[in-house]
Amino acid sequence: MEVTSPVAVRDILNRYRLACRKSRGQNFLIDHNIAAKIVAAADLSPADLVVEIGPGLGALTTRAAGLAGRVLGVEIDRGFLLPLEEVLAGLQNVLVIQGDALEIDFDRLVQEQTEGVFGREGKRYKLLANLPYYITSPLLMRLLHEHYNLSLMVIMVQLEVAARLVAMPGSKDYGALSVAVQFFAEVKLLFRVPKTVFFPVPAVDSAVVRLVMRQRPAVPVQDEKTFFKVVRAAFGKRRKTLLNALATSDLGVDKELLKTVLRSCGINPDRRGETLCLAEFARLTDSLVKLKEYR
Ligand code: SAM
Repeated sequence: MEVTSPVAVRDILNRYRLACRKSRGQNFLIDHNIAAKIVAAADLSPADLVVEIGPGLGALTTRAAGLAGRVLGVEIDRGFLLPLEEVLAGLQNVLVIQGDALEIDFDRLVQEQTEGVFGREGKRYKLLANLPYYITSPLLMRLLHEHYNLSLMVIMVQLEVAARLVAMPGSKDYGALSVAVQFFAEVKLLFRVPKTVFFPVPAVDSAVVRLVMRQRPAVPVQDEKTFFKVVRAAFGKRRKTLLNALATSDLGVDKELLKTVLRSCGINPDRRGETLCLAEFARLTDSLVKLKEYR
């Protein structure tokens, strides 16, 4: 069954006495061509297991189930479980569980549901989501930093967030999120999605982004934790020079020593943090971890 028109969405919400909750990012996709285009971007085959975050009324779920071997949906709103049962009736390869994507251990869930075929010790799986906007950044950061055994993510996010994910050094959109995403994945903005294809209509346009997860980070670093500490420090105070931003951060390294370290890695201390590329952040991290403060 398809719920990709305003009439169908209204009807099912009314029948189950549900309201769209803004606080949970509940803007449902009502364009079946766009739903099909998003799912097609995940390049699904019967060999795939796909996790969907926030199936809602199943706009992406039904299509993914038609193409993938199995679909596991994680929906926070208990109220949507019954309507989803109706929408997904007859599809044997879909399971929706109630849970919070900010808390679930995805590798473990997948491992349990597939008896170890997929998950941490098993094969890599895919992730699909029309993301609830209020959790996009923390959720993405979590999915990346937990090193889940993912091969690919296809996500719909606010256009402004999509611009941050693909931003290059020196641009106003380049920040800690850009570095994290590009460190762990090859990222591509696939297409824009106008706000008019959602019910209710949100305030901003969206975009679909594909992240092909790297087997190894884009740049090798001796200590990933320090790398991200340095990145956070560099972007923490965007109007300061890199030297001042790092010196007033929680890195705990003296300013004069920092100046010496920056120069030793060929980075001008007067540059702004947002001009550093991944390789420069990696070089700086590797020098910092050699200091006695980090031993
Ligand atoms: N996939 C549907 C679609 O494309 O029409 C719904 C997308 S809607 C933008 C976001 C969905 O995520 C809603 O169903 C919402 O209830 C759910 N959601 C919100 N926060 C969540 C969380 N923390 N964990 C899991 N699902 C969540």
